[in-house]
Amino acid sequence: MKIVVHIDNARQWQEALSQALPQATVLTSEAPADERRGADYLAVWKAPAHLLQEQTALKGIINLGAGVDYLLSTKGLPANVPIVKLRDAGMGELMADYALYGVLHFYRSMDRYAAQQPHACWKPHTVVEKADWPVGVLGLGAIGAHVATTLQQAGFPVLGWSRSPKAIKGVECLHGDAGLDALLPRVKSVITILPDTAATRHLLDARRLAQLPEGASIINPGRGSLIDEQALLEALGSDDAPGHVRGALLDVFHEEPLPKEHPLWQHPRVVITPHMAAPTPLAEAIDQVISYLHAFEAGETLPTVSSGQGY
Ligand code: NDP
Repeated sequence: MKIVVHIDNARQWQEALSQALPQATVLTSEAPADERRGADYLAVWKAPAHLLQEQTALKGIINLGAGVDYLLSTKGLPANVPIVKLRDAGMGELMADYALYGVLHFYRSMDRYAAQQPHACWKPHTVVEKADWPVGVLGLGAIGAHVATTLQQAGFPVLGWSRSPKAIKGVECLHGDAGLDALLPRVKSVITILPDTAATRHLLDARRLAQLPEGASIINPGRGSLIDEQALLEALGSDDAPGHVRGALLDVFHEEPLPKEHPLWQHPRVVITPHMAAPTPLAEAIDQVISYLHAFEAGETLPTVSSGQGY
């Protein structure tokens, strides 16, 4: 079995896979092209197009992350090769940490203290009951469900939203367009953990942002395309003329890296992180990758990604 790996820490993956599968040839994408050709499997994250185009005998592609938008939009992606993606694989916990940090940032007024500090302003803000700070989690997949449960266990009322009906203990689960219309006006913070698909692009547009209550905050570790960035800037307003959205913690953007001249960088009530909310943790993800490889070899049916739906 020949596997070619492409990810930032490809050498560590190469070592771990070689150890677990001693009979396999595991190469990184830095190996010479003639050695890479004829691979059975690609295990990749943000692979360059040529890596996909040069293969002729692939039995499967393993996406070493949860979002498959990049892979599915890569030119020359071989047709009819099954694609699987990581499901949770330790990312749920990392994402839950990020989401909890984001909610606490606004709930405990850390944004206001950051704004006060340059003025040496000593002004405590009231802490409301957590029961009065409902949080919305858009996307209840492998990662979103973990986030919703963590926030609920932290004491916040949680409203979740997905495409199909769900049942998660302690979480009020809504779905469909009507569900989103019902959720947005009720939440103080909203977290978006949806995939980038034709159906989710600009989900939070000017109309949806206007449905949020005055003073709501937005946390987006999902995909940049989920939010209309211009509409968000308008909903945030300026310090002279604040809009009804209080602030945002954003990890993902339409264009990454976020261009230096982008107004979001300068907005006083926006916190920007460089797509770091939940990087794939090798130690947790390796077992899932190995089980995918065994299942492919055994001819088992796997939960493959559907290109039409984006995941
Ligand atoms: P899953 O595929 O497991 O779940 C996706 C969820 O989104 C499901 O609940 C699904 O609903 C819901 N959904 C999809 N389309 C729609 C729609 N049109 N309307 C309503 N709900 C919809 O994904 P994961 O939980 O594994 O990951 C979610 C996303 O998080 C990834 O696609 C990626 O973009 C992002 N991510 C970001 C990271 C970062 O570091 N910033 C790291 C990891 C992931 P249903 O179940 O009903 O189909």
